[in-house]
Amino acid sequence: MNADKIYSNFDGGNLQCLCDDLVAEQQNSWLELGEAYGSLKGVRARDLECDGFAVRLQHNPGRTINTLASVDRQDINARKCFLCAENLPPEQKGILYRDEHLILCNPRPVFHSHLTVTHIQHGPQNIADSIDSFLRLAADLGPGWTVLYNGPQCGASAPDHLHFQAVPSGRMPVEKVIVDEKSQALLAEVDGIHLSRILRMGREIVILKGDNRTALGNAFKKFLSVLQEVLGIDEEPMMNIAGLYKEGSWRLLVFPRVKHRPDVFFREGDERVVVSPAVIEMCGVVVAPMERDFERLDAPLVEGIFKEVSLDAATVDKAVAKMSLMAHSRTKHEILISQGSILTKEGQS
Ligand SMILES: [Zn+2]
Repeated sequence: MNADKIYSNFDGGNLQCLCDDLVAEQQNSWLELGEAYGSLKGVRARDLECDGFAVRLQHNPGRTINTLASVDRQDINARKCFLCAENLPPEQKGILYRDEHLILCNPRPVFHSHLTVTHIQHGPQNIADSIDSFLRLAADLGPGWTVLYNGPQCGASAPDHLHFQAVPSGRMPVEKVIVDEKSQALLAEVDGIHLSRILRMGREIVILKGDNRTALGNAFKKFLSVLQEVLGIDEEPMMNIAGLYKEGSWRLLVFPRVKHRPDVFFREGDERVVVSPAVIEMCGVVVAPMERDFERLDAPLVEGIFKEVSLDAATVDKAVAKMSLMAHSRTKHEILISQGSILTKEGQS
């Protein structure tokens, strides 16, 4: 890693402060970023009530390049990797995170702070091998940030270079929903990790929750492998992930996917709707780079897009049923019996 790309080094301490400093410094020293943050202040947004859930539409022309990004293997092989340190803009610097990742400012922000966290080596998006780093990053960043992952075939604009994102927590509608435990149905428990599902969200959302990083990472990898089994595939199942850390406990929100872009994305002329669902969209912030789409997106259109790109409930049920059969797992019924006392205690507090 070339020393002039390193703004500072993190190997323990207050990462939140360091990231705030980085965003402030880069807005001053990097003209393109300063302008991007300036334009972000003027973006229009409106809330949309869908069947059982809310979304926030954001008209953000700065995201056009991301929304339209080609994920075609030939196109990717033909371009220089824009996440490799040697190809970053000269002004861009980052925090070297635990000698493994570089925390950078995303030059096309969706939120008032928006980080891209790249691996220092060029290599493909792969969540099974990087889930432990993902969880550790969420804990180091703390409750003020939400860490994000896009699978290589469903939203990552650089599927060839491992990277996460981090955005200020609490800005996406799904984060407000999960605060209320009543919105969730407990499905199973594996090695002390609770699996649940958020109800009535118009797309599948599985939550894995636990306070042991290794156990949570292992339960997540089991979930990946049962999904592969159910889908009959060897590659990484299509998914987006949001990771939150608070008071010693992690929550992984997994959005299993069946499709990258909806059919309306590929229509021609007036019929085309430029929405490309990635993790931020699945969390409830739908970015519309074109004004025409921002104006005309309505509840049925958004509900249709979510339904089309999300894996179906029956397939998720099959995967969860396989999880429940694993060693050291308890069924939903067994957990509910054992939780009788826990629920009573919570009710009193
Ligand atoms: Zn690269």
